[in-house]
Amino acid sequence: MKKKLRKMFRDLRKHNITARMNFMCCQSCGVNCISEHKKKNDYGYVFYHNQDNEGLKETNTTYVSWGVFEEDDKNKLKELSRTIIKVAEQNYIKVNWNGESSRRIELDISKVCLESLYTEAHKRRILSKLSK
Ligand SMILES: [Zn+2]
Repeated sequence: MKKKLRKMFRDLRKHNITARMNFMCCQSCGVNCISEHKKKNDYGYVFYHNQDNEGLKETNTTYVSWGVFEEDDKNKLKELSRTIIKVAEQNYIKVNWNGESSRRIELDISKVCLESLYTEAHKRRILSKLSK
């Protein structure tokens, strides 16, 4: 199951996103260090840290931290969240997230994520929050 997560992170890197698995001990260390791994054209980052990784082993779910390198760039932030969700779905990973940029995004690799798991209402809710 972790294979699809690995594939998802590989795919994220193709979208100019610095994507790291099992990165650093905690959220604040991760946020502090992630830019050191930034490639020239990367505009945003996604990672989960060592503690998340422990949880992942037990529950097959993890939260990812995410953000843009240019702080307060709302358009880039929107683009980043959309890309994370899209790439997760492409890899059959279920996303739980309420659409708020301050919240971490939960990835569930335990289930086969079919398009039908996402109700239209759920998608609309996320998109409407993003467009504000
Ligand atoms: Zn730490």
